[in-house]
Amino acid sequence: MCGVVGVYAPGHDVARLAFFALYALQHRGQESAGIAVADGATIVCHRDMGLLSGIFDEDVLTRLRGYIAVGHTRYSTTGSSVVVNAQPLLERAAFGDVTLAHNGNLTNTDDLRGTLSAATVLQATSDSEVLAKAIVQAPGDDLVAKIRYTMGRAEGAYSSVMSTEKALFAFRDPWGVRPLCYGRNPGGGYVFASESCALATIGAHFIRELEPGEIMWVDGDGLHCEKIAQPKPQALCMFEYIYFARPDSLLDNRSIYMARLEMGRQLAREYPVDADVVMAVPDSAIPGGIGYAEEARLPYVEGLIKNRYIGRTFISPDQGMRNRGVQLKFNPIVENLKGRRVVVVDDSIVRGTTTPRIVKLLRDAGAREIHVRITSPPIIDPCYLGVDMATHEELIAANFTVDEIREKIGADTLGYLSKEGLLTAVKRKRGEMCLGCLTGEYPETYVARPSAAMTAR
Ligand code: SF4
Repeated sequence: MCGVVGVYAPGHDVARLAFFALYALQHRGQESAGIAVADGATIVCHRDMGLLSGIFDEDVLTRLRGYIAVGHTRYSTTGSSVVVNAQPLLERAAFGDVTLAHNGNLTNTDDLRGTLSAATVLQATSDSEVLAKAIVQAPGDDLVAKIRYTMGRAEGAYSSVMSTEKALFAFRDPWGVRPLCYGRNPGGGYVFASESCALATIGAHFIRELEPGEIMWVDGDGLHCEKIAQPKPQALCMFEYIYFARPDSLLDNRSIYMARLEMGRQLAREYPVDADVVMAVPDSAIPGGIGYAEEARLPYVEGLIKNRYIGRTFISPDQGMRNRGVQLKFNPIVENLKGRRVVVVDDSIVRGTTTPRIVKLLRDAGAREIHVRITSPPIIDPCYLGVDMATHEELIAANFTVDEIREKIGADTLGYLSKEGLLTAVKRKRGEMCLGCLTGEYPETYVARPSAAMTAR
């Protein structure tokens, strides 16, 4: 999980445009962030640990002058959470400066590392640095040729934005695991971003998503695109629909909000229950909660108020931080809960540490019955394609039955959306999405590389 942004807009304050676009992608990573700016002659990069608001101020943004910007907000998957792994990465190559921002996980990092020259010094510990160096060292007269060559060898997820001093590049792996879209900057130029909400934030007009295996680039001659990799079985991450992407984003030309609303409706059809009110765990489960309430013809109420200044529990890098976050994060609205039979809709149960605390909060607030409904099927396997979910041992649904989980979380009833119900809600067929963590069946990019589990955290 990371967010990437690329801006090519001569005559505009591209650092500021990238900054606000990244702000809209802060939910995709809160550990570190950075912006690199190219001015035609060189690239200057500023990156650090923490949230965007703590890394960039007026002075920093004013110093980042140029007409191309590449931005990144990071949550670590491979490579630890330290500043050397913060992105964009900057490579001082013989042919000039290059900067890269990458979202995803490679599944053949070791193979790719083995192709680097013996003199290569790796400073970071992430697969992204291997990808950047592999591109820089690839044969080819220009960066498009080098990217094309590397895309023929890299496996896994890599929605990326890259720039030289004079041109901006964006490319998406042939499986299309992570999203990447682009639009037109109203005053001239183009913007690339992980999600369309980032384009909307800076007033850019969404054009379309990059196709899997497509590379696009912008230079003094305008916008160019090329489908450079052979099509592969599509493997867009289902969790982009369930949890990761912002509800105001479009994915595959579908509104994330509408997809989540439908997940809630479908869940109500699959797991109805006699209850008084429906609530959702804020924020990402809210559309699902509204959908459930609509279908069940029950009132939707706010049962928990979230302190939005404490990071998302799922996204925190260690268990200690997660535990503290849960305690501090929610306050119940007693008036909406006391004496009532409550349906609580959430988007997922990963380790099963957050849900019992929420159930207890609601019981302490006076809820008479608590019926937990989850808008995803049980997560039974880890992710090797860019999401640090948990290990197999940590995943509660990999180790316990639904009824055992219900007992552990302290709910009166528990219902998970079925896999077929989920596919119906997002209007996709099996084989068109990655459902690996829900089915144990991974897309070709991972299946072909069983050793990936050793390189991906
Ligand atoms: S394994 Fe799960 S989280 Fe990972 S890409 Fe596939 S659907 Fe997404």
